[in-house]
Amino acid sequence: MYATALHCYFCGTDFPLTKLGSCPVCAHPGQESALNETLGVKYDLAALKRLLDREELARRPAGLWRYHELLPVTDPSFRIDLGAGGTRLARLTRLPECVEGNMLFVKVEGSNPTGSFKDRPIGVAASTALEQGARGLACLTSGNIGSAMAAVAAKAGVPSLVFLLSSAGLADQGGAVNVEKYVQISAYGARVLSPIGDLGQLYALADRFESELGWSFMHNVQAYQTDGDKTTAFEICEQLGWQAPAAVFVPTGTGTDLFGIWQGFVLFKELGFIDTLPRMFAVQPAGAASLLSAWEARQQVPAILERIEPNLAPPISHRVSGYHAYKALLESGGGAVVVSDAEMLAAVKDLAAYEGIYCEAASAAALAGIRRALALGFLDAEEASHRGLVGILTSHGLKNSLALSQVFTPPPQVEGTWEALRSLLN
Ligand SMILES: [Zn+2]
Repeated sequence: MYATALHCYFCGTDFPLTKLGSCPVCAHPGQESALNETLGVKYDLAALKRLLDREELARRPAGLWRYHELLPVTDPSFRIDLGAGGTRLARLTRLPECVEGNMLFVKVEGSNPTGSFKDRPIGVAASTALEQGARGLACLTSGNIGSAMAAVAAKAGVPSLVFLLSSAGLADQGGAVNVEKYVQISAYGARVLSPIGDLGQLYALADRFESELGWSFMHNVQAYQTDGDKTTAFEICEQLGWQAPAAVFVPTGTGTDLFGIWQGFVLFKELGFIDTLPRMFAVQPAGAASLLSAWEARQQVPAILERIEPNLAPPISHRVSGYHAYKALLESGGGAVVVSDAEMLAAVKDLAAYEGIYCEAASAAALAGIRRALALGFLDAEEASHRGLVGILTSHGLKNSLALSQVFTPPPQVEGTWEALRSLLN
């Protein structure tokens, strides 16, 4: 085991590697705060340097556990393997901005086993929870975490419970839950419930759930989730020939993914596997951009938005993102950009129609964010056309096709004759 401690990236305190949802010094239990998310996992760098080199990693099979020394699960029998990770880093070639000379890549996370990047963080966090003795797995989610967790629980043979938030990402009275998501989660055998109550109340319930039943709530192993997200960065470096790109654009809600990916690049640099670090950019939907507000106003800790506006990307619509993600974008010299529904939709269509990649609007936000950053002059020519930009396409389009049913109309009927077909095509 090379993981040594849980570390708070706000106050600097180290804690033992146990279940800890947030830093007991900094967090505000029962209320929303950027300081509820400050934890990451520290590793024994000296030991890892002696043990690992690029050649050793390169000869292992693709996937999460290729990097097992850099993850917090000790016993191989607890490394639940559904085939997560090892996703394609696609070079975009036909988009107009690529034809004009920009070097763009996307990490196609929708090809993970349950259709989203969550198979990485939850694959690692759920495996860690089971190794620590959890008798069941539970979570509160707008969908993708639930699918990833329920699939791991199925393979591990333990029961699972998913509190599924409405498609607006809120725990409210009778809000509609996303059909594509509850069906998938239910198919894995999880019990799915639609909760009523505010988020603070529900997280308190989660703690009770753990103490009474011995189950593990994914929120309380969130530091281990960021470790799973690190593998995205590891793969990008390997896929670019042991180099980091100039910048990485991450659709950002809580910010766990952005922070985890940054941690992955930092760890690879500390191990001497890459020479440079990328700039990290958070992409957030208009009306739910707490990191952009914090970054522009140079806030010390991101403030909570009074309200969020409805938009096409509920998975990345939160009143506040974690401090850890804010720290990552500041430390890396990156920043935050905001994108509109129209820009996300255009990105969904362009990725599909130019590049053959279908992802949901919250994922396409990555490309919309790259476009916005290029338009704002955030990236110089060397970064954009030589060192390359990477967007994280977090999930598959089939996760949320219903949301686009207003955009793409049902197909018109056509009579099965050549004349009818010909007149229609003209
Ligand atoms: Zn702290």
